[in-house]
Amino acid sequence: MKQRTVIALMVLMIMFLSGGCNDEQSGGKDTPAVVAGKTYHWKLVTTWPANFPVFQEGVERFARDVKTMSNGRLNIKVYAGGQLVPPLGVFDAVTQGSVEMGHGASYYWAGKVPAAQFMTTVPFGMTASGVNAWLYAGDGIKLWDEIYQPFNLKAFPMGNTGVQMGGWFNKKIRSTADLKGLKMRIPGLGGKVLAKAGGNPVLMAAGELYTALERNTIDATEWVGPYHDLRLGLQRAAKYYYYPGWHEPGPALELLINRKAWESLTPDLQKIIEVAAAANNVWMHAEFDMKNQQALQELKAKHKNIEILEFPDEVMAEFKRLTQEVLDEEATKDPAFKKVYEDYKSFSEQNAEWDALSDGAYREVMRGQ
Ligand code: CA
Repeated sequence: MKQRTVIALMVLMIMFLSGGCNDEQSGGKDTPAVVAGKTYHWKLVTTWPANFPVFQEGVERFARDVKTMSNGRLNIKVYAGGQLVPPLGVFDAVTQGSVEMGHGASYYWAGKVPAAQFMTTVPFGMTASGVNAWLYAGDGIKLWDEIYQPFNLKAFPMGNTGVQMGGWFNKKIRSTADLKGLKMRIPGLGGKVLAKAGGNPVLMAAGELYTALERNTIDATEWVGPYHDLRLGLQRAAKYYYYPGWHEPGPALELLINRKAWESLTPDLQKIIEVAAAANNVWMHAEFDMKNQQALQELKAKHKNIEILEFPDEVMAEFKRLTQEVLDEEATKDPAFKKVYEDYKSFSEQNAEWDALSDGAYREVMRGQ
């Protein structure tokens, strides 16, 4: 009797360790219980340079979190831009499934999916808190899945820079007249707005910015915020540092996943990815807030020749008016852009009303004290 019990227990244990009894008996069908024992080795390619602060750091942090939470069942090897595929080859690599994951910003793929720009940021759009509300609690992630469906992709928000700086200028911007002929490195929709204002937007990689600005090949450039800008040395190339980054008020970064690879995972591993992405969405934003405030102090203490200036109201009003024109024009070109735009717009209008009574009102009170 005793021996039988021991044998029965051993059989149960073996079945348990092998990943479950039902599947073994039903002919080893690939149900989650069986796959639960499987170890995955995935590749993740990013659009960022190796050791790029916050961005690349956050992605590596995500991979470590997934490994720890999955107890080693999902191992993600992270490759910086250019190591496995070119930085802007990330989207195609994940779509085609040559790698399982990617990290970048959805507005890099504006040429393929114009609507995806809303998932990163649009000029005069919402800040990080509004963006997260729209993505997680509103229709954002649902719409994201919809526009990425034809590309065999699934995406999660992972990282946010917060409101960026307006950029470095080698001349003062006193009125909209100063925008005429202004040659500025500013990508995407912000660039289209500048062009409408009479400026000359140019595209340029990060590595070229310092020299171009220092030699007056360009008159201005935007990049990120104090932390990243100081590392590029832009404070030595131009004197006027303008705020706020009207063109990028709360860019969300994205974790891209090949949909077939995603669907091959057990629900627990999917949940681990979702939770680790959300955790690092918070971490990157927090890290940006801390590093930017420290870098601002460094800038003020060590580079006293720099003038930190707010854009004139007139310039902001003009950019805002032209942004509306740009967005309306883009909406007529692409039905998906129009659909996402309408959802984003109604959400952000409602968000602005609530913000006026909450964050906005509170900030006013604090400013007055
Ligand atoms: Ca930027």
